[in-house]
Amino acid sequence: MREIDVSVITGKIRDLCIDANTHLGQDVLQAFDQAVTEEVSPVGIEVLQELKENARIAMEQKVPMCQDTGVAVVFVELGQGVHLVGGDLKEAVFEGVRRGYRDGYLRKSLCHPFSRVNTGDNTPAILHTEIVPGEEVKITVAPKGGGSENMSRVTMLAPSQGIEGIKQFIVQRVKESGSNPCPPTIVGVGIGGNFEQAALLAKKSLLRPIGSINPDPELATLESEILKEINRLGIGPQGLGGRITSLAVHILIMPCHIASLPLAVNIQCHAQRHKEAVI
Ligand code: SF4
Repeated sequence: MREIDVSVITGKIRDLCIDANTHLGQDVLQAFDQAVTEEVSPVGIEVLQELKENARIAMEQKVPMCQDTGVAVVFVELGQGVHLVGGDLKEAVFEGVRRGYRDGYLRKSLCHPFSRVNTGDNTPAILHTEIVPGEEVKITVAPKGGGSENMSRVTMLAPSQGIEGIKQFIVQRVKESGSNPCPPTIVGVGIGGNFEQAALLAKKSLLRPIGSINPDPELATLESEILKEINRLGIGPQGLGGRITSLAVHILIMPCHIASLPLAVNIQCHAQRHKEAVI
């Protein structure tokens, strides 16, 4: 049994909140470069180049790449051979978010749903914990902006709607979202499980690097087909018209009830932020 003090987790989460908001991943930057070669709209090309420049400035000046620094979504994979000491895990995670958003001068974006009074420190974070084999703790921090989250949906399709129904729902969701989620987007899709599991699958699918191939060949084909359809909608970068509405479609699936076909679409804006650390 390995002992880890929760204060170590607090420190890591603080750093990850700042890093995620100021450093866009190499996979996203490469996807911008690729998109420039495929975009036909001059305005679209200009937007893509500006997004890259924006990311460069954020990284060099250590400032957030977007004013919406998001809700802190935190995934903790806790090895079952780890004994956490020194306090409560949830409070340690929240304290890390608190410090990260304070020390990084990141906007605090959480409020009471009725009064709209800001909680003041960007907590509570959205915390997903999973017990896994081993003696390590893996932490992923994925700040999620409101504009793209607002365009996300969960639906329960009839099983008879099948793959065609799934495709139609996803493409229609992107079409109706228009410029709201700050395209080019990454479209996270969760299929199966149940109501809440489908949403979690969609969220987790966004953690996969852009440009990676889905290990399930059937899903890889489906991702490619849906992406082609989305990029025929003409929404384009920032919704100003063009070919590149989305950079990628990522799908995760799991078995579901015989009477159900749960489907979740979690739209991610171009500020595709997630950083991880292993303790
Ligand atoms: S949707 Fe994304 S890019 Fe647009 S304002 Fe929100 S965080 Fe920023």
